[in-house]
Amino acid sequence: MSTEQLTYNWNFDDKAAGPAINPAENATAASSAMQQVLANSAGPAPTPPLPSGSQVPIPVGIEVGGTLACDAEIRELTGADEEQLSKVNRNSVRFFDKLLQLGVVSLGSESVTPALLKSLYVADRDALMLAIRIATFGAELELVGVRCPGCEELVDFTVDLSTVELRGLPVGETQVELRDGRWAHLRFPTGEDQEHILAAVDATSAETNTALLERCITYIESPAAGIRVPGSADVARRLGIADRRTILMYLADNAPGPQLMSLSTEHEACGEEVPLPLTVADIFLDL
Ligand SMILES: [Zn+2]
Repeated sequence: MSTEQLTYNWNFDDKAAGPAINPAENATAASSAMQQVLANSAGPAPTPPLPSGSQVPIPVGIEVGGTLACDAEIRELTGADEEQLSKVNRNSVRFFDKLLQLGVVSLGSESVTPALLKSLYVADRDALMLAIRIATFGAELELVGVRCPGCEELVDFTVDLSTVELRGLPVGETQVELRDGRWAHLRFPTGEDQEHILAAVDATSAETNTALLERCITYIESPAAGIRVPGSADVARRLGIADRRTILMYLADNAPGPQLMSLSTEHEACGEEVPLPLTVADIFLDL
């Protein structure tokens, strides 16, 4: 099992694959980044910049008790939490479910339940995990031995996780036009969708894409005929490959939540901007 299973890999097309520290694409950078974080975790205890209880914004929000909750109370994880987390396979969605159950105190005015946390958008779940990470280990994440694309040197970088952009939902209708003039109406995935998408351990990326499209296409509209076909696995499989990529690209490019994949830092020695894309799994390698 690899940490890739913890998050949906948007790099469905090799040509679209960015310079992400993706274990499948760049084993050296991934393993050195990982080793460094693991090495750091054995060092002195981090100093959390936040008090143990804090109110943080969530980028999309969820309706609880008839009102839209746009913030949550999170807390620092303790040794007791660490013990509980150690009993869950960290290469699983369950690890992150558990982490949220332990670290999120309330959403809006409601105490959290596992079901409520699962119904959150992935964007909000990721934002909460980032906040819990900062409350527990601090905002700094060190990446050692990253190869600078400008000068080829191996460089150490420190990423400030508190500066990560929290993006909301795109403005307007979430839809894309297909090649034959139909429109695919879309929604972004929730925790439940994520569980469905990542459920099949041996799934190929095409199968994982079908699982994502099955959940995220709400319906396909033929404006001329006035027909709306609800999304399903069958609908996702019958789409042309180009249309599937158009939809996946839209969902990846417009994904709300913490923009961890677009992190970058300048290499001062040569002036090159070095991409340092991270996943939520990467920020919890300390645990
Ligand atoms: Zn450089």
